[in-house]
Amino acid sequence: MKNVLTSTSLVRVVLTAIIWGMASTVVSAADEVNVYSARKSALIEPLLEKFTEKTGIDVNLVTGKDDALIKRLQVEGKASPADILITVDAGRLHRAKAAGLLQSVDSSILNSAVPANLRDVDKQWFGISMRARPIFYVKGKVDPKDLSTYENLVDAKWKGRVCIRSSSNIYNQSLVGSMIEANGQAAAASWAKGFVKNFARSPAGGDTDQLRAAAAGVCDIAIANTYYFGRLIKSAKAEDNAVAAKLAIFWPNQNDRGTHVNVSGIGVTKAAKNKSNATKLMEFLVSAESQAWYAKVNNEYPVVSGGAVDPVLASWGEFTKDNVALSKLGINNRAAVELMDKAKWK
Ligand code: FE
Repeated sequence: MKNVLTSTSLVRVVLTAIIWGMASTVVSAADEVNVYSARKSALIEPLLEKFTEKTGIDVNLVTGKDDALIKRLQVEGKASPADILITVDAGRLHRAKAAGLLQSVDSSILNSAVPANLRDVDKQWFGISMRARPIFYVKGKVDPKDLSTYENLVDAKWKGRVCIRSSSNIYNQSLVGSMIEANGQAAAASWAKGFVKNFARSPAGGDTDQLRAAAAGVCDIAIANTYYFGRLIKSAKAEDNAVAAKLAIFWPNQNDRGTHVNVSGIGVTKAAKNKSNATKLMEFLVSAESQAWYAKVNNEYPVVSGGAVDPVLASWGEFTKDNVALSKLGINNRAAVELMDKAKWK
C-alpha cells in the first residue's frame, strides 16, 4: 500500500514538474511582470489593470506582509519569480537593498518624476507615494501654541501625555533615524530618553490605536502617519469619524528642517526576469494620472511635484517637509534601534 502511494505521489510530482515546466516556458514567453506587494490588492490592483490595458503587459500580483515578502525574496533567491517589490517605509526599502534583493534602474522618467531625496542614491528603490508623521493633539486639551518640534516633546509639560507605538515599528525607527541625521547620535539618544519619560503608557498597538487612545483621553498627543488620520475621517463608521473630530494635526519643525516624511516605494528585484516590463510599470506608476489615483486611495501625498492632492489632505494645509535623503534613514536604522532600546522605548 505504501509503495502504491509512493509511486502515485511520484507520478504526481513528475506530472507537476512537467506542468510547471510547461507553465514556466509559457510564462517566460508571455509579456508579463510579477509583483510582490505589501500593499493590499484593492490599493494597487485597479492601477495594475490600467497598466495592462495600456501596454498589453500582464501583471501577476502577490500580496503579503512587508517583512514576510522580504523574507520570501531572500529564501527564493535567484529563483524568485518576482520582478518588483512594493513596500512601505524607506527604512524597509533600504533593508531590501542591503539584503541584496534589489537592482539599480536607470530611467530618465523615474529620475525626473521622483525627487532625489525620495529615492535611493543607487536608484534601487523609488518612492511612489508620500506620508508625513506629524503630531496629533486633542483639541481643547492642548494649545497648539505649546507645540513646536519633535525635539520639544521632551519638555516636562508633556509628562504622561504622549502616545506613540513601539520602537520595533519601522516608522518610529525612521523618525529617529531622521533625528540622528539632523542632530547627531548623542543628541538623538538623550532626546529618546527624555521622550520615553513623557509617555502616557507603555507603547501598544499601531498608529490608529494611538489616535484612538488620544481621543479616549489616555493621552493628549499622539504621533501617527497621516493616512491613518485620513482613514478615520473618511471611514463609514461614525465612531471613527468621532475619533478624528477630536483631533487636529500639528506640523512640527516648521521653522527648521520640517516635518518628518516617508514613502511607500518600489524597486526591481535582483532576480527579475522581466526588468524592462518592470521598469515600464514603475514609470507608469509615477505618471500624473497614476499618482493622483494611488495617492487618493491610500490617503497619501503624491511624490511627483505638483501632483493632485486629495481634498481631505489638502484641508490639513501645506507644510514644510524634512528633505533629508530618505536613504539616510535606512543607513541610520541600526543606530536608531540601539538608542531606542537604551532609552527603554518598548
Ligand atoms: Fe502603515
